[in-house]
Amino acid sequence: MSRVKILDEETISHIAAGEVVERAASVVKELVENAVDADAQIIRIGISADKTGITRISVTDDGVGMDFDDALLAFRQHATSKISRPEDLDGITTLGFRGEALASIAAISKVTFTTKERGSASPEAARVVIHGGELISHAAVGAPEGTSIIIEALFYNTPARRKFQKSVPTELSHVYDMVERIALSNRHISFVLLYNGKERFQTFGTGSYPDVIAAVFGSSFSKELTPVSGSFGPVKIDGWITRPGSEMKTTQTRFYLAINGRQVTSRQLQWAIREGYGTLLPKGMFPAAFLDITLDPRDVDVNVHPTKREVRLSREREVMRFIQDAVYSSLHEERVFSPAPGHKPSVCSRLTSFSLPSPAPAPVREIVTTLPAEIVGEPMPVYAGKRETRQSPLKQTEKQLRRTETHDLPETDLFVPEVLGQIGDTYILAKNESGDLIVVDQHAAHERIMYDQLLARASSAESGQELIVPLPITLSKKEIAALPDLQDVLASAGYLLEPFGKDVWMVRSVPVVSSTLGDPETIHAILDAALDGVGSTDEVLDRVLKTAACRAVVKGNTPLTVEQMQRLLRQLMATQSPYTCPHGRPTTIVLSKSRLAGMFLRT
Ligand code: ADP
Ligand code: MG
Repeated sequence: MSRVKILDEETISHIAAGEVVERAASVVKELVENAVDADAQIIRIGISADKTGITRISVTDDGVGMDFDDALLAFRQHATSKISRPEDLDGITTLGFRGEALASIAAISKVTFTTKERGSASPEAARVVIHGGELISHAAVGAPEGTSIIIEALFYNTPARRKFQKSVPTELSHVYDMVERIALSNRHISFVLLYNGKERFQTFGTGSYPDVIAAVFGSSFSKELTPVSGSFGPVKIDGWITRPGSEMKTTQTRFYLAINGRQVTSRQLQWAIREGYGTLLPKGMFPAAFLDITLDPRDVDVNVHPTKREVRLSREREVMRFIQDAVYSSLHEERVFSPAPGHKPSVCSRLTSFSLPSPAPAPVREIVTTLPAEIVGEPMPVYAGKRETRQSPLKQTEKQLRRTETHDLPETDLFVPEVLGQIGDTYILAKNESGDLIVVDQHAAHERIMYDQLLARASSAESGQELIVPLPITLSKKEIAALPDLQDVLASAGYLLEPFGKDVWMVRSVPVVSSTLGDPETIHAILDAALDGVGSTDEVLDRVLKTAACRAVVKGNTPLTVEQMQRLLRQLMATQSPYTCPHGRPTTIVLSKSRLAGMFLRT
């Protein structure tokens, strides 16, 4: 049955500029995508190379194949079975649609193409041989159902392009990357990649993301990931991203994004994912991400760039917010903080597994005076426990989410490491049940706790404590000019300020969490933060709270008792993002047993 047709002039005129076959990897991409579009279950890719470069590329599939005439027609410019009218460009569901790849590849190489239509009555397959765009033969041969294409002498008649080929390892790495990307977004298909006859990797078509990730990157890497999923109307997100606390990279190398099965790049969506991590992401670090996004095909324009790697989304802002929210919600579900599936706890042990220390003996005087009450005294309310399920698909700020969760909850929900001691009056050493060593930066941890407490109280009636004696503060002209507009935000944080004299204002209340927040220096710093850049009220409030958290934390080295450290860890684990301070620096380093074993060369 004939399916392939030459597109009419009008449709051709709507298609973005023709693609250029730049390197071996572009050829592999086009051929493998054709096999995917042909409903293949198994796709075998063979690459051969010698010192001179890549000598042979072959792709074999068990897809629908083509009949005798189509096999030849497919090599004509603008010959495709995937679209036929300009309107079809509005809802493309196949990887190809321009009908250009086979023609372009056949023009610059020697091609042997064998295909047999699935379920056809004829016993014969078609074989087409084309050298440099010239038909050498079109004949009937015996072959199984499906398609096999062999490309030899790539760029043999285009010396300029051949000269631009990099070394064999570089070209191969592009080929591998391409096949990996296609395999990651087509998990129901089994891919086998051979180099000079040796198997390089294989996926098994199980449909499972972790299976493909493990096949491509190794099983230990796949254990560092946590699932993300969510849907909002026709928009769906499904995939895996780096678990907070796992190794992050300073470059975004492992970012795999597929929209409707097509691997694409998108700075916007990359940004949305990072935003979803918020402070869980240390500064300058990037998570790995493997994400499938499903959208209404009419909302995706793939016809903007010849390589189709860039797409245009019609409701991009909405999609970005949704992705950010889905990442945020997924990361804040309990499982992120609990052990990886099939693993013993790796971050901390359950609180219930050891008894709480008896009330602290009277701490050293110096500590009582330098440490804020909530570390020395009884623990503050616990801010963890049951995570609210998403109510709105749109982004909820950290604050909004927190507000729904600030009820006191049983502490047995928490995982808290057991304190071993303190070093340098700065770091807390602890261990968990599986014998991992945990090092906590007490100041960063304290900042995280403070921030959470400030956030939990922000905008509530209990955010501020009235000062018995109001505090006069002399302000700069800039501060005075801005203050009337900032009064509401500051009030949400717990600061009540009122004009008093020409350049003097009265501080009537300061945030409850720490009395040190009434220092004039602190108030100037907070005004600075509020005035530093623009933003929504929530963003300004967030800057205010981050600065307050930083200011509320004791600077310098502070010796702590075991009880104080234990309480600090308990409060830290009760925060929403225990692994980073509000500025994104890590609070906690985990030296797992296996990492220690590695350092001692025991493995
Ligand atoms: P496009 O993929 O944009 O349609 P191509 O030049 O890549 O253009 O392929 C032209 C046509 O050849 C396709 O539309 C399809 O009908 C057919 N074709 C190519 N490769 C295969 C394959 N592996 N199996 C079945 N049909 C194929
Ligand atoms: Mg194609």
